[in-house]
Order: sequence, then C-alpha cells, then structure tokens
Amino acid sequence: MKILVVGSGGREHTLVWKIAQSPLVDKIYCAPGNAGTATQAENVNINAEDINALAAFAEQNQIDLTVVGPEGPLVAGIADIFQEKGLAVFGPSGAAAQLEGSKVFSKNHMLKYGIPCAAGKAFTDPKRAKLYAKALGAPCVVKADGLAAGKGVIVCTSLEEAYTAIDDMLKGNKFGDAGAVVVVEECLNGEEASFIVLTDGNTVLALPESQDHKRIYDDDKGPNTGGMGAYSPAPVLDHLLRTKAMEEVMIPAVKGMANEGTPFKGVLYAGLMVDKESIRVLEFNTRLGDPETQPILMRLKNDLVPLMEACCNGTLHNHTIKIDPRAAMCVVIAAGGYPGSYEKGHEITGLDQANRVKDTVVFHAGTAMDNGKVVASGGRVLGVTSLGDTVADAINTAYEACAKIDFKDCFKRKDIGAKALKRMAI
Ligand code: ATP
Repeated sequence: MKILVVGSGGREHTLVWKIAQSPLVDKIYCAPGNAGTATQAENVNINAEDINALAAFAEQNQIDLTVVGPEGPLVAGIADIFQEKGLAVFGPSGAAAQLEGSKVFSKNHMLKYGIPCAAGKAFTDPKRAKLYAKALGAPCVVKADGLAAGKGVIVCTSLEEAYTAIDDMLKGNKFGDAGAVVVVEECLNGEEASFIVLTDGNTVLALPESQDHKRIYDDDKGPNTGGMGAYSPAPVLDHLLRTKAMEEVMIPAVKGMANEGTPFKGVLYAGLMVDKESIRVLEFNTRLGDPETQPILMRLKNDLVPLMEACCNGTLHNHTIKIDPRAAMCVVIAAGGYPGSYEKGHEITGLDQANRVKDTVVFHAGTAMDNGKVVASGGRVLGVTSLGDTVADAINTAYEACAKIDFKDCFKRKDIGAKALKRMAI
C-alpha cells in the first residue's frame, strides 16, 4: 500500500513511525512533514490546508489511503473532496467534523443526545450573552464558535473579563468569522483527561486514556500551549470512568451523528473534566491529540493500518484494540519564547544519543533540515517519548533521553507525569 499522511507536527511523525511498522505498507508520503517524518517517509512540499493539491497528488501517485492529522483540512471538508474522487481517506466528513469545527454545533449535539457537559448557550447578541454570563456568575467561559488555534476559549475569572471577551468576539471581530457566534458556559472544576476512540460510524473502540499538560510552566502555570507533554495511562480516568466515558459520551455522540445523517468515521477525542465520579465534556476534537498521540501510539500493539481501513469501510466490529500494559510518557522540548515569539534555525544536537535510550523514540514536531543538519523550525520542536514498566520508570527514561538533547534556548517542563504519580500515591 501507499499511504499519505497530512500534517507536519509530532502527531504526524508518530503516525508515520507507526504506519512504517505495518507489513501492508510499501511507501509513505508526508505532506509537508518535518525532519523526523523524512527518515521514514518521503516529504512532499504541499501545505496541509491545500486540499486540491493534496487530492491531485493522491490521484497522481495512486495513494491507497490518506491519513489526515490536523483539524483544519478536516473541517474544510478534505474527506468529502477525496471521496468524490474515489480516494480513500481516514478522517470524518466536513459535516461530521463540525463536532470540532463549531462549538455551537458541538454543544447542541451534546444537549440533544444527553451527553454530560457544562450548561451553556450560543449567542450573536452581546447584550443577551452578557445577561446569560451574569446569570451563570463568575467564573464562566466564553468560547468563539469556530477554530481559533487554541486561543478562542477564555476562562473568565470575573464578569468584567467575560463582558470584555464577549465584546472582543461579537463586536471587535477578534477571531473574524470564528467569533461571530459565541458560546457562554459554566466553568467546570476538576482534572482534565483525554479520551480518544476510533469509530466507523457504528462500532466504537477505545484507545488508551491519556493526560496532556497544556500550560507552559511547571505546576500548570503560565499561558496555554499546544501541549507540553502527555502520558498514558492516566490514573484519573479509572476503569469505571472509562466505561462511563464510553457509555455516556462516545457511544451517544457517534449514534447521534449517524441519527443526524452525518455518520462520524475516524478519530473522536473527548476532552473531559473529571471531578470525583463525574465526567463532563469540555470539547470534542475530530482527530488525534498532539502530544497525546505520541504515548498512545507507543502503547498500541495493533497494526494501525487495518484499524484505519476498518474505520473507512465499516468493519471495525471485526477488530479489538491491543494495548501494551506499560506506561508511556512524552516530554515536549520547546523553543525559548514559545508560546510567544521564538527563534528558528538553531541546530539540534544529541538526537541519535537520545534515540538510543531504551524504549525511547524522539518524535519531531517543529524541525527542518538545513545543510544536512536538523534545526528547530517551530515552537514545539520535539516530543521525547519513552515506555516504562511503571509511570515512574517512563518518566525517568524520558527525562534521561531529554538530557542528551540540546539547542540554543530550548526548554521543557520538568514535571510531566508528576500528577499521575501523585494520584497513584493517594
Ligand atoms: P480553539 O477552538 O480556540 O482551538 P480549543 O478547542 O483548544 O480552542 P477547548 O479545548 O474547548 O478549546 O478549551 C481549551 C481549554 O479551556 C480546556 O482545555 C480547558 O482547560 C478550558 N475550558 C474549556 N471549557 C471549560 C469549562 N467549561 N470549564 C472550565 N475550563 C474550560
């Protein structure tokens, strides 16, 4: 088979690494890819958002399956355009990807199908939005309806902050069309966890649960990022809560989409707020998370390719998921200044030494080749991912490997996994 992976982050390098292990696959392309994907795939210089160019490439090169990493092209309807041309694609249709592409759609879907979530409502009129925020009281959350690269969600500690966020979006056009409608919702308390499933629109199979670290600094301080590290399993989501997440969230969400005539095929990700025995959905994503993909795919024992094909052709009921019982841990190494502005082009050293550490893979994110050297070319640069018999072992191994890597101004959080250790000690 020939497979095309779309995207250029750590998630896509991990997908390429996993797909390369399949005996079914002869050739992998990655568009546009990074210096890591180039070691196992042929990078193709097409932007992940350039759907027509991707479709033309897939047709010309007789690609058997295209695997879409990021949400942008999914929400823009890449799956529909590929399917019209008879090209197989792993990822939901544009209509189904609205579960991520529109927070209003997502909230309405959750309310209609009784999926536990924060109380909330959609508004275009700032006055009504403010009255609702006032009724909820502070803290509350204001969300731009559309995709806003992780910046469209404002957790407001005071009503003044909520009013400003509402005005910025509805009057100030802060997020353009993405903010022309806002969702105002109740602020939930608890610990966040990621629960991700594969589905063919009918059968739903759970991947291992995981936990991301969104804030830039240790102890969850500082601004939000794309994710500074992740681990799996996540003890906060125990067996009982995982069963609840399947029965109360994923199965109704997937059945509901089929009921609406827009069956969901691909990866469905629920960002959950866990508070003791209760789980509530913060958001749906319609693709794998980054950096959750790194530990999850390190633990997945199945060949990923037949699973993805089964999602496309409705035969997922013939499969079961096999998981390595060991823990996996991903530590992100970022460029100095991220999530603000940062420098590019610094040479990265120690990659081979880090990759030689037992049960460790260094997944690339923002990297590029420059005159035969690997250089940093993005904010999140690498995801150093290790397996261990226990979470503590995985932490030690991942940080041992991280210590071998260096580039100017690089930094990482030092407490990835600490939350899991703390919870297991209770
Ligand atoms: P964007 O659409 O801009 O890309 P996003 O999809 O990443 O943003 P969410 O994941 O919905 O946005 O929210 C981002 C973060 O905001 C969550 O991880 C969580 O920490 C916080 N958050 C969202 N909704 C709530 C809520 N109701 N209560 C408390 N915190 C929330």
